Amino acid sequence: MTVPPPVLTATNIRKSFGDREVLAGISLEAREGEVISILGGSGSGKSTFLRCLNLLEVPDDGQIAIGDVQAPLARNRHGRLEVSDSRAAARLRTQTAMVFQGFNLWPHLTVLQNVMEAPLRVHRRDREEVQATARSLLERVGMAGFHAAYPKRLSGGQQQRVAIARALATNPKLVLFDEPTSALDPERVREVLALMRSLAEEGRTMIVVTHEMAFARDVSSRVVHLMNGRVESSGPPAHMFGADASPAFRAFLSPAA
Ligand code: ADP
Ligand code: MG
Repeated sequence: MTVPPPVLTATNIRKSFGDREVLAGISLEAREGEVISILGGSGSGKSTFLRCLNLLEVPDDGQIAIGDVQAPLARNRHGRLEVSDSRAAARLRTQTAMVFQGFNLWPHLTVLQNVMEAPLRVHRRDREEVQATARSLLERVGMAGFHAAYPKRLSGGQQQRVAIARALATNPKLVLFDEPTSALDPERVREVLALMRSLAEEGRTMIVVTHEMAFARDVSSRVVHLMNGRVESSGPPAHMFGADASPAFRAFLSPAA
């Protein structure tokens, strides 16, 4: 069996805010079709790490590649890492998509317009084709009847499913999820997790920050535990949820035990 090629290679990512070191050198590789769950306590750097991966945040150190394209990061004359080519950075950003805890749909656009916006304006694709793709994605996420609705009319679970359709509309190589179900009622959590599970089964490469342990255990190919800005431990779910997992991760899973 051949090993699938890497979609993401992040090497030694560091980031501080003031004198607080939030990421202390994180390396992570995601191969095609992998679903990586990132678990860790509040403030452990999970969101900052995801934001670095799509250059929403510029790391202080480290390298990021999507496929075999390196992120254009270089040191300026003060020795600080910065984006050295904004067009190349924008191109690279289009290879990933992010789904947020708060959905972040554009309130002034309809459901269909939300899904069409990026492929039309950023990727400058043909309108007919973009619309056809958007319609099929909305059907895929169970939102076909809502094309003309505005986000505020939808439940949280519906908004998140539209946000996932929007994330897929540009056909990204990698989808980053930052606690996609944390703002949802329990019954809505289920519908969003079911959708994410089906994307995983289709072979989407995904990095998912989550507190949903059942998802991490049953759907991920790998679980990564972040603690104090470092990868404290990582491995296949069978290991991470088994008796030989690291004591720190076991303490994270059952703090009272
Ligand atoms: P997590 O997602 O694991 O809860 P975050 O990555 O959001 O953690 O945050 C990690 C730490 O970095 C927190 O202490 C947070 O307050 C701090 N932090 C995050 N973003 C910023 C920022 N833009 N400026 C200053 N501190 C930040
Ligand atoms: Mg976070």
